Amino acid sequence: MKTKKFCLTERQMPAQWYNIVADMPNRPLPPLHPVTREPVTREQLSAVFAEELIEQEMSVERFIDIPEEVQEIYRIWRPTPLVRATGLEKALDTPAKIYFKNESVSPAGSHKPNTAVPQAYYNYKQGIRRLTTETGAGQWGSAIAFAGRHFGIDVEVYMVRVSYDQKPYRRLMMQTWGAQCFPSPSDRTASGRAALAKDPACSGSLGLAISEAVEMALQHPEDTRYCLGSVLNHVLLHQTVIGQEAVAQMEMADAEPDVVIGCFGGGSNFAGLAFPFLRKRLTGGNPVRVVAVEPASCPKLTRGAFRYDFGDVAGYTPLIPMYTLGHDFQPSDIHAGGLRYHGAGAIVSQLLKDGFVEACAIPQTETLGAGILFAKTEGIIPAPESTHAIAAAVREALQAREEGREKTILFNLSGNGVIDLYAYEQYLSGALKDYTPTDAEIRRSLDRIA
Ligand SMILES: *Cc1c(COP(=O)(O)O)cnc(C)c1O
Repeated sequence: MKTKKFCLTERQMPAQWYNIVADMPNRPLPPLHPVTREPVTREQLSAVFAEELIEQEMSVERFIDIPEEVQEIYRIWRPTPLVRATGLEKALDTPAKIYFKNESVSPAGSHKPNTAVPQAYYNYKQGIRRLTTETGAGQWGSAIAFAGRHFGIDVEVYMVRVSYDQKPYRRLMMQTWGAQCFPSPSDRTASGRAALAKDPACSGSLGLAISEAVEMALQHPEDTRYCLGSVLNHVLLHQTVIGQEAVAQMEMADAEPDVVIGCFGGGSNFAGLAFPFLRKRLTGGNPVRVVAVEPASCPKLTRGAFRYDFGDVAGYTPLIPMYTLGHDFQPSDIHAGGLRYHGAGAIVSQLLKDGFVEACAIPQTETLGAGILFAKTEGIIPAPESTHAIAAAVREALQAREEGREKTILFNLSGNGVIDLYAYEQYLSGALKDYTPTDAEIRRSLDRIA
């Protein structure tokens, strides 16, 4: 009998995170202060983030211990299974072997609690009583609501309005775990009020929601900090628990991936799975390809420019060296809300620039189609974001069939889609459309970067 699932015991869960910066030939450029354009200092960042997270953000240590208190909560759902997608392989009639790492089994239904838990923990240790944050599709908001509850911290979430309206269930998850959730733009902050004044029907964006959450933290330095679910180095660091487990599980499967694939919003689930595999390549080992998959409607990796740009619309965050479409680029209202972000993290951007990471952009009708094939063959209904990774895995598997050669493919199933069924309804009824920005649109928003 062929083994389908490769599971680690709780004792085999990694006790450290992997910091790829230690192994990068060119380390990422430093973030700059938005006004002075000098590298930001720890003191400046400490108004916004917990101290320990800033240390991790700047760390060049190769391995960082996962606190026992964090490991204890991880054990609610970790280690997660690695699965051989035999049903999908059969449906595609491919000689390729397809594996996926199933991060959809967490309480929030995605990979995001992997970083929400340590972020809440380090803030709690510092005596912070309230966390503010933004959320796109709602996965990050629900993850931080779940994590905050474990340490008794209040959580205030600004949710991109288009998702707030489309996805009431995620808001209810946050509220069930005790968090407060506001549609962004809201009238609680200056940046929200400015956006509403310009366009009362503004559907919001991740960048704008970040502006609101950061503003709230800056106004309450005594007990409030901000936290971010993607993009930053420490977030990618926490997610490497995924890839370290997967490295061990691929060994159990007696397989070595030729290509590792993750969907790409700000880069955290992609990095989390890919970096421990990329480590072998950076340190002179195997030639594994790693592929980041973005939506064709928000193509910062394939059509953006490498620039210093803000992480948010209003310009509160430091300038980050990244592939970007421009911080006020307004992506169309696609269903993969978690992928509607204008930029990429500094580490992934540097790795892409240096040729260690590949990127591809896929339209959402193709991704949802792949998601439905996956649901039919593997049983799990994937998050609309994750369908981008599936579609890329399908492309790789079909290419292997065409070329008549074997290939081992590993992708990250970053979340499940059971409360994103509206996307599936749109697809099944034939109403789902593709959007691709024109070169002129992208040029215009890039020109607005100072
Ligand atoms: C947030 C999210 C993403 C995108 O964020 P990354 O930081 O790029 O991983 C992808 N998939 C799911 C399920 C998400 O919730």
